[in-house]
Amino acid sequence: MAEKIILTGDRPTGRLHIGHYVGSLRCRVDLQNSGEFKDIFVMIADAQALTDNAENPEKVRQNIVEVALDYLACGLDPEKTHILIQSQIPELTELTFYYMNLVTVSRVQRNPTVKAEIQMRNFEASIPVGFFTYPISQASDITAFKATTVPVGEDQEPMIEQTREIVRKFNSVYGETLVEPEIMLSDDKSCLRLPGTDGQAKMSKSIGNCIYLADEEDAIKKSVMSMFTDPDHLRVEDPGKVEGNTVFQYLDAFSNDDFFTEYCPDYKNLDEMKDHYRRGGLGDVKVKKFLNNVLQETLRPIRERRHEFERDIPYVYEVLKKGTEFSREVAARTLHEVKEAMKINYFDDAALIHEQAERYKNA
Ligand code: ATP
Ligand code: MG
Repeated sequence: MAEKIILTGDRPTGRLHIGHYVGSLRCRVDLQNSGEFKDIFVMIADAQALTDNAENPEKVRQNIVEVALDYLACGLDPEKTHILIQSQIPELTELTFYYMNLVTVSRVQRNPTVKAEIQMRNFEASIPVGFFTYPISQASDITAFKATTVPVGEDQEPMIEQTREIVRKFNSVYGETLVEPEIMLSDDKSCLRLPGTDGQAKMSKSIGNCIYLADEEDAIKKSVMSMFTDPDHLRVEDPGKVEGNTVFQYLDAFSNDDFFTEYCPDYKNLDEMKDHYRRGGLGDVKVKKFLNNVLQETLRPIRERRHEFERDIPYVYEVLKKGTEFSREVAARTLHEVKEAMKINYFDDAALIHEQAERYKNA
């Protein structure tokens, strides 16, 4: 079987939150440590962040180091994972320009993720062209590193499909050059898309309904205690709904039986707690207090490691520089192959010059 390569990443539009952690970060660290991958590229997608933050360059600039700190805090290891900054690899932009010819406007318009994001940002008629075309730029990121595997949250599924279409089109027009990637979703269904603390469909930096990995103890507690639950569960004795109840969705993603033994021995596991909630007689406050304990214990070591890296910011930039340099060489090799396949490699093709010279000699 061909060697497996990972590409994944995040937009530097804010610190990373626990949705990123369960949806992709936690899994990335396991993949990194599995030793199954030839290369792992984790990209800080600043160029993509600028597509809807063009007037806010300082925000993107500041958040590069925040995202890098979150990566290191979660256990991404620069010895095993190349952490790179998208804008510093111009080859990616060049690839995008050529891929644009292989995609129709109506195809991008049909992309459900783009549709949802346009709505969320109230762009309607004023969508920046760069934002509109970001699925194509994402195809460049994935293919530049010949990624076989893209571990992301479920909201990214239409993006990977778009990339696969571009790869197939490119290879059929110009000959077998690019690698078709596969999306890798978490096995744990509760982690595919963590809702926001306000109960909205997705925890997202751009909405601000987040618990951040860097949040201090009291901020986490405040978010948990004010979280959205079942609006019809008014009195403790009322039966409650577990489905669509944010507090239980978080417990699905974070709790395990050991946490019950330690912090809530009234129940052996989450199923028992859910049954009691459904029957009535279990108050939101008790469930929230348990969730708070679970999150505090999960996030404490991450926050402490983050504080250690915060004391050596020049090191963090050095990691980013090295990762970017390595990645740029890989992307440049792919771009070279792409240009060769597209027949736009005029100066490094001796056969071409010879052929033209012969043609004119005989004319
Ligand atoms: P923005 O609002 O700027 O788009 P975001 O919070 O959606 O930010 P991204 O940087 O777009 O975060 O996403 C990075 C990765 O994290 C993607 O793989 C995405 O699928 C995953 N992800 C983001 N939010 C969640 C979530 N709430 N639950 C699970 N995975 C998520
Ligand atoms: Mg997003």
